[in-house]
Amino acid sequence: MRALTFDNRFVRELPGDPEAGPRLRQVTGALWSRVEPTPVAAPRLIAHSREMAAALGIDEAEIATPEFAAIFAGNSLSTGMFPYASNYGGHQFGHWAGQLGDGRAISLGEAIGADGKRWELQLKGAGPTPYSRMGDGRAVLRSSIREFLCSEAMHHLGVPTTRALCLVGTGEAVVRDMFYDGHPQAEPGAVVCRAAPSFLRFGHFELPASRGDIDLLRRLADFAIARDFPEIEGAGEALYAAWFVEICERTARMVAEWMRVGFVHGVLNTDNMSILGLTIDYGPYGWIDDYDPDWTPNTTDAHGRRYRFGWQPKIAHWNLARLAQALAPLFSSAEPLQAGLDRYAAAYTEADRGNVARKLGLAECREEDIGSIRDLHVLMHDGEVDMTIFFRALAEVDPESPSLAPLIGAFYDEEKRMRTEPSFMEWLSRYAARLRHDPLSATERRARMHAANPKYVLRNYLAQQAIDRAEQGDGSGIAELLDAMRNPYDEQPGREAFAEKRPDWARDRPGCSMLSCSS
Ligand code: AMP
Ligand code: MG
Ligand code: MG
Repeated sequence: MRALTFDNRFVRELPGDPEAGPRLRQVTGALWSRVEPTPVAAPRLIAHSREMAAALGIDEAEIATPEFAAIFAGNSLSTGMFPYASNYGGHQFGHWAGQLGDGRAISLGEAIGADGKRWELQLKGAGPTPYSRMGDGRAVLRSSIREFLCSEAMHHLGVPTTRALCLVGTGEAVVRDMFYDGHPQAEPGAVVCRAAPSFLRFGHFELPASRGDIDLLRRLADFAIARDFPEIEGAGEALYAAWFVEICERTARMVAEWMRVGFVHGVLNTDNMSILGLTIDYGPYGWIDDYDPDWTPNTTDAHGRRYRFGWQPKIAHWNLARLAQALAPLFSSAEPLQAGLDRYAAAYTEADRGNVARKLGLAECREEDIGSIRDLHVLMHDGEVDMTIFFRALAEVDPESPSLAPLIGAFYDEEKRMRTEPSFMEWLSRYAARLRHDPLSATERRARMHAANPKYVLRNYLAQQAIDRAEQGDGSGIAELLDAMRNPYDEQPGREAFAEKRPDWARDRPGCSMLSCSS
């Protein structure tokens, strides 16, 4: 493979662990540990993202070579790569969990792409690290397919996210429990190569702060600002304050985007929150089919439902408060941090209002529209309405003679539809009246709505169907699904099967709605 160019600032500029290798340990005073990926039996490329390959400057011809599969399975390193696992902590389900770290992710270095951008490449599932704790450092094929597909689908939706370059089968079995019948089960293993300008998480800052290592905390903050936020100006506390505000604003925009497209992350622990405001760590995530703000795909969270769809905005705020706490030693007063947290709330409201206007096809969001969308959400929940199909079809409602006809296909249950129809009609006539007083032309409104309301989202059951095929040895379902997700806002004749509502059989099937953390 033609060599990528690497500039590994993280390991060059920040302190590393004096010990190398995967022996389990607490690592203090250091932000990373050198560890080699563990080779696998039979690397086989299953899927790749041509957009990500192009960004890195990798030719399509190179991707098909055994050398490519070997590198991205972790069996060989190319020039300039420096493999390491990074050290972070985190709050899991509301509780401080201490050192966590990259337990099954190994970074290969920071590649400078053909696009001139910095892309940290990271192999997920490449074997044990000092941070593997109880785990084996591996990942199963099904969760790797889900991470690969969703990273790229989110990118095409315009949602800030880490990316995925490729998915390689290992030819080795991985044993996981809790999936089909509660008994350990051997499953095919895989490695995903993820890519992002930075994989720094809130937890990277929380860990040194929790240990009172303020020197390390400051070095990391200075590094992150210099490398990942070069546009932020200032010095000293003012610089840290501006940086924290930027993190808060980016987080607000990211979460507002999740709410726009119906994405539920599923495990919003602070170790799964990116400093860059990118969606990171695709585990038991899910997509809203029938609108339900209380839904979470994560079976591990089925009781408290801490990470339910409708709570994501306030959970992100809670997580930012944990980051603020960690950064507090860099400030002489709490005021700038509080200002950042307040900015989060304002930025979220701003982004959300923009999304309301776009989703409803209005030139701007007025006070009354906030009440209107709330009413609509209550109705959608009551009537068991598919979120994606409903908003997409809303563009077909005629303001001169509003009717439920274009929206019928969004209902899951005939009885609930009939029961809620009068309330929907009432809402629609208010909406139509609002549209008649809006300056946008019919064409402009439709275009605006279609650009904000995707037709194609990565429904859980669609991913599961691709997984079922791949587990039988046919990986082509992954590329087919990715093709549809590439243009989520376009009508794609011939691909309508990927835009249908969740079929009945998929309602309670594992993988099709709820997922365990076992991955
Ligand atoms: P998650 O909840 O997936 O974000 O993972 C939380 C922590 O567990 C992180 O430190 C992961 O690196 C680690 N982890 C998860 N699965 C494994 C595994 N199979 N082997 C080693 N570490 C793991
Ligand atoms: Mg994680
Ligand atoms: Mg995970």
